[in-house]
Order: sequence, then structure tokens, then C-alpha cells
Amino acid sequence: ADPAPQLAVENLHAWYGESHVLHGVTFAVKPGEVVTLLGRNGAGKTTTLKSIIGIVGRRTGSIAFAGTETIGMVSRAIARLGIAYVPEERGIYASLNVEENLMLPPQVRPGGFTVEQIFELFPNLRERLASQGTKLSGGEQQMLAIARILRTGARTLLLDEPTEGLAPVIIQQIGRTLARLKQEGFTIVLVEQNFRFAQSVADRHYIVEQGRVIDMIANDELDANHDKLQTYLGV
Ligand code: ATP
Repeated sequence: ADPAPQLAVENLHAWYGESHVLHGVTFAVKPGEVVTLLGRNGAGKTTTLKSIIGIVGRRTGSIAFAGTETIGMVSRAIARLGIAYVPEERGIYASLNVEENLMLPPQVRPGGFTVEQIFELFPNLRERLASQGTKLSGGEQQMLAIARILRTGARTLLLDEPTEGLAPVIIQQIGRTLARLKQEGFTIVLVEQNFRFAQSVADRHYIVEQGRVIDMIANDELDANHDKLQTYLGV
């Protein structure tokens, strides 16, 4: 039998003020899986991640994390269950250096990465330890943003366009990092515009359109579904 989902989103609706943005998003992620949310700009991918971590104004429906219903919970309580989110803008504290950024996040679960483990994963960060957030390259900022959530002990990661604006060699490094985390049993939901990257890291893909999940494609069926994808995404 299939394992129980780590994350099960059902008929999720979300609003920004009066603006009704999600219209019944349904998808599930199994423990240890990497799934992507693919879709055109404005489809509702970012809002789906924000809803899961509890930072949109109003949500209805169901978001179960390891069997716990989180729809009525505040974001801090959701984070304590072991879910972490890296926003598209990465959220690095510009006035703090790398070391200070790494020290900030509270441990929400046991098993958070030590600073040594972070350096093993991202050797570049060791060399940049005393550098201020503003002085980091885009790639270093993304690594620091991922490193920070690993410090918390969260084992379910929500990543919003981690490759955006990064050089190919850095994108490869992020890809290797995600593969390694998957190997260690992390569950990952990824919003991605970089189709090749999505294909290189994910088990399955959910297609988001106008605030709904309209299809699911297994990674090994992507190439066979090229025409469908072209219609959905224009790729
Ligand atoms: P993108 O890649 O462009 O971010 P997306 O699929 O992630 O696309 P969302 O950012 O979730 O899409 O946006 C979904 C819809 O909600 C869009 O119509 C967008 O304009 C709207 N929206 C997003 N953020 C807000 C906000 N803070 N207030 C009001 N409307 C918003």
C-alpha cells in the first residue's frame, strides 16, 4: 500500500483581502518525495506555498501535515511541526553576516543541521562566514536561505523558485543539494519555472492553473507528455 502522505492539500481556497486567488487546490506529497508545482505566472503556485505555511490572509479547505490538520493554525505553530519555507526573495537579513543569519532560526525539531554540517553541504558559505547579507551573490544567498531552514530541523521544505536568476553552475549545485536531501529522506515541494531543473530533481509534477491543480505528471512521463506541457506552460 502507498505510505500515508506527508502533506495532503485538499480543496484549498485562499484570499488576499477580497481577492479570491486559490479555487480548490488539491495535491499530495509522500514522505521523501520531491514534487514541483508548475504553471504560468499568476497561476497560484506561490500562494499555495504561502497557504501551507500559513501566511495568507484567509484559507479554507484542508492542509494535513503528517495527519495533523493545519488550516486553523498560525504559521509559527505550523513551522513547529517541521515545515519550512524559502520565499522567492530568499529573506536573508541584509545587515547581518552569514554566521548571524545561520544562528537566527530557532530549532523547531531535533536534528537540525549543525554549522559544520551546513559547511559540508555548502563549502562556499564557510569562506563567506563574516560577509554581510548584502555582499553575497544570488547563489550564496540561495544557499544561505536553504541552510537556514535546515538549521531548524524541518524535514519538509517548501522552496519558491530556488534557481531564479542563478548561473548554470550554481543551479547544478542546488540540484545536487536537493538530491542529497531527498536521499536523506526530506520531503520537498518546489515551485519552479526552470523546466529542465524541475525535471532533473522531481518525482512528480503538479500543474497549477487559475488557482487549481489541473493535472499531475510523473517525472518519467514528462517527455511523453510534451504536447500537453506545451499547452499548459508554453514551454
Ligand atoms: P508567479 O510565478 O508570477 O509568482 P504564481 O503562480 O506563484 O505566479 P501567485 O504569486 O500565487 O502566482 O499569484 C496568484 C494570484 O494572486 C495572481 O493573480 C496575483 O496577482 C495574486 N496575488 C499575489 N500576491 C498577492 C497579494 N499580496 N495581494 C493580492 N493579490 C495577490
